[in-house]
Amino acid sequence: MGKATGFMDYPRVENPYRDAAARLSDFADLHAYQPASARREQASRCMNCGVPFCQSDFGCPLYNLIPEWNDLLYRGREREALERLLQTAPFPEFTGRVCPALCEKACNLENDAATNRDNELYLIETGFERGWIVPHPPKARTGKRVAVVGSGPAGLAAADLLNRLGHEATVIERADRAGGLLMYGIPNMKLPKDIVERRVALMAAEGIEFQLNAEADASILSAYDAALLCGGAKKPRGLSVENIGAKGVHFAVDYLTAATKAVLSGGEPTVNAQGRHVVVVGGGDTGNDCVGTALRQGCASVTQLEMMPAPPLERLVSNPWPQWPRTLRTDYGQLEAIFRQGADPRVYETTVKRVIAEGGQIVAVETVKLKGFDPIPGTEQTLPCELLLIAAGFVGCEESTASAFEIERNSRGNLLPADGSHRLRGNLFSAGDMRTGQSLVVRALADGRAAAREIHQWLESAL
Ligand SMILES: Cc1cc2nc3c(=O)[nH]c(=O)nc-3n(C[C@H](O)[C@H](O)[C@H](O)COP(=O)(O)OP(=O)(O)OC[C@H]3O[C@@H](n4cnc5c(N)ncnc54)[C@H](O)[C@@H]3O)c2cc1C
Ligand code: SF4
Repeated sequence: MGKATGFMDYPRVENPYRDAAARLSDFADLHAYQPASARREQASRCMNCGVPFCQSDFGCPLYNLIPEWNDLLYRGREREALERLLQTAPFPEFTGRVCPALCEKACNLENDAATNRDNELYLIETGFERGWIVPHPPKARTGKRVAVVGSGPAGLAAADLLNRLGHEATVIERADRAGGLLMYGIPNMKLPKDIVERRVALMAAEGIEFQLNAEADASILSAYDAALLCGGAKKPRGLSVENIGAKGVHFAVDYLTAATKAVLSGGEPTVNAQGRHVVVVGGGDTGNDCVGTALRQGCASVTQLEMMPAPPLERLVSNPWPQWPRTLRTDYGQLEAIFRQGADPRVYETTVKRVIAEGGQIVAVETVKLKGFDPIPGTEQTLPCELLLIAAGFVGCEESTASAFEIERNSRGNLLPADGSHRLRGNLFSAGDMRTGQSLVVRALADGRAAAREIHQWLESAL
C-alpha cells in the first residue's frame, strides 16, 4: 500500500456527471473526467486489505488485481498499473464506463470505497492516449479455427482470448455493427460507440475476423473446429393487456437500438419520443436508459412504472456488507428527469392495466396500483401516453438461435449445460447471457473468457 493514510486524508470523489442541462442537449458521454493528479490521489485511498473483498466472489467477476494496480497508479507508474489491469481485464474501457462496480460495493471502506471503476478507466484511456495499446497478433498459430456467434461482450472476450492463444477466431454477428448490447442497447451517453468500434478495430488488426450482417447456422459446426454461441438473452418479457399491439408500443431494446442508429447516422430515429408523453414499464436499469434517451429526444414527459415497492434507503440487516446493497439508487436518467420535471419519474407498485388507443395509435394508458402482484380495485388512473416502452426484463435467449443449433433451452430459457460447463455437445459451446440469462457486461466478459479457456483445453486435447 503506497499511502497508509490515503483513505483518511482524501474523501472519495467519483468522476462527476456533466451538468444536467448540458448533457440533456446531446448524446455525448455523461461524465466529465478528472485529471491524473486526482486519479493518483484516489488510488492512494485503496487500503491493500489483508483480505481484499473487492477481488472475492462478492467483488469483481474478473478477479481484477485491484489493490496492485491502485498502488502502482498512486506511485505514478501508470504503464505498469495498466499491464497489471490487462492481466485479467480484457476491455477496461467498457467496464470502466458501464460496470456497476461490484468491487466497490464489496470494498472494506463500504460507502467510501476506493474509486476502482474510474481508476481503471483512467488507466486504459491513458494507455490509448499515450500509444501503449497497439495490436498484438499472436506469434504462432495452432491452425485451429473457432466460430464465435455474437459480438457482445461475451463473444468479444472469448474471441480475444482464443486469438491470444493462437487459434483463428471468426466472430459472426447478425447486426450491422459489432458489440451486441454494447453497441445496440446501452445508450451512447453511457458508452460512446466510437469506444466500441476502436476495440473492434484493434481486435481485427490482431487477426480476428468479423462477419457482420451474418446469421449463424449449424453449418459452422462442420466448417470450424469449434463453435461458441454467445447470442445473448434478449427475448423480452411482454405485457398482456388490452390493445398492446397498438402503434407506439415498443420493447425497450428496439427503442434504444433505433435511438443509437439515429445518433450514429445523424438522422431521425425510427421511433422518436420527441413531443410525446412517454411511459416506461420497468423500474430497472434498462428503463432508466429509456428515460435518459426519451429526455434527450425531447419528450413531453416521462413516467417510469415499477411493480415492486421502492427499495429501502439503507441496507437491511438481511442484506449485510459485502453483499450487493439492495437499496434505492437514483441513476442518471432519473436524476435528469428530476432536473427537467421536478420529481422522480418512478411510480412504485403500479402497472399498466390497459392501453387506450384511437385509430390503432396509443393515446393513453390506464394504470393500477398493486398490492403484492394483485391490482387494487378503484386505484385506476389514466396517463396520457403516445409512446409506451416495455422494459420488463428478459426471459432468455431467442428461440431462433437455439432451434438453428437444435439445443433445448432450460426452464429459464437459457443454454446452461446441466453439468455447469460451457460445452453443449460435440464441438459446440455457449457463454454469456445466452448461457446464464441477462446479466452484466463484466459477468459476460468473465464467462466468455472461461468458455475460451475450456475450448482451448478441448482443442489441445484433440491436437
Ligand atoms: C438496455 C440495456 C442496458 C444495459 N446496461 C448495462 C450496464 O450499464 N452495465 C452492465 O454491466 N450491463 C448492462 N446491461 C447488460 C449487458 O449489456 C449484457 O449482460 C451483456 O451485453 C451480455 O453480453 P452477451 O455477449 O452475452 O450478449 P449480447 O450483448 O446480447 O450480444 C449478443 C449478440 O449476439 C448476436 N446474435 C444472436 N444470435 C445470433 C445468430 N444466430 N447469428 C449471429 N448473431 C447472433 C446478437 O445480434 C447480439 O449482437 C444492459 C442491458 C440492456 C438491455
Ligand atoms: S470490472 Fe467492475 S467489478 Fe471489476 S474492477 Fe472494474 S469496476 Fe470493479
